[in-house]
Amino acid sequence: MAAWGEWLAGVRGVLLDISGVLYDGGEDGGSPIPGSVEAVARLKRSRLKVRFCTNESQKSRGNLVGLLRRLGFDISEGEVTAPAPAASLILKERGLRPHLLVHDGVRSEFDQNDMSNPNCVVIADAGEAFSYQNMNKAFQVLMELENPVLISLGKGRYYKETSGLMLDVGAYTKALEYACGIEAEVVGKPSPEYFRSALKEMAVEAHEAVMIGDDIVGDVGGAQRCGMRALQVRTGKFRPSDERHPEVKADGYVDNLAQAVDLLLQHADK
Ligand SMILES: [Mg+2]
Repeated sequence: MAAWGEWLAGVRGVLLDISGVLYDGGEDGGSPIPGSVEAVARLKRSRLKVRFCTNESQKSRGNLVGLLRRLGFDISEGEVTAPAPAASLILKERGLRPHLLVHDGVRSEFDQNDMSNPNCVVIADAGEAFSYQNMNKAFQVLMELENPVLISLGKGRYYKETSGLMLDVGAYTKALEYACGIEAEVVGKPSPEYFRSALKEMAVEAHEAVMIGDDIVGDVGGAQRCGMRALQVRTGKFRPSDERHPEVKADGYVDNLAQAVDLLLQHADK
């Protein structure tokens, strides 16, 4: 365990991914990953700063936090960095009027945005709303624009629900990029700006922070590119082949969030 002590020295802040680390979502609302409710509580009682950094884009931040609280987690909206509220601000700042290809559950996050005469497309994890008709409508809106702007809330490949692996927004974003010959702007992990905004909220420098996630590319690779340390949990979408990923190597692998918190409380900030 000496290696862990060296590796976790100087950690002051912890960023936690939500889906696959705290809980696995599902039709029935999902279920907490064993040990995670208590692990979050222990972390919040410690001297370490904690922030939740999610790519969840099917639910509003309020609905997500409500669901997690019902599952037993100590979490509030102000502690969560989520892509939809971040995107809504960016749209306003840049005078962008979105055509939304999103799940109904997240639409309320865009209530303050002007949707008339769209000059960009915002795509999120729309679930069942990823029909041919809706994809084609988004394609048509983009092709009508002189400078097509496509904003993707995260670019995940897949995630895990209680019923199995689920195709994520990234696959659909790629389809629109290919058809339109453009590149999407990502609001969410692994975008460095997104990690930096979460770090700023915590008032912690990248080299003092550790990201804990189940996505080897979006969580681990993204955080490392920002100068953070990153742990991958063997829960959620984790697959054994992730530990031999050709491009990304986590700073450490742990069975679950509970084990990560055990190590952090033993070794961090010493
Ligand atoms: Mg996750």
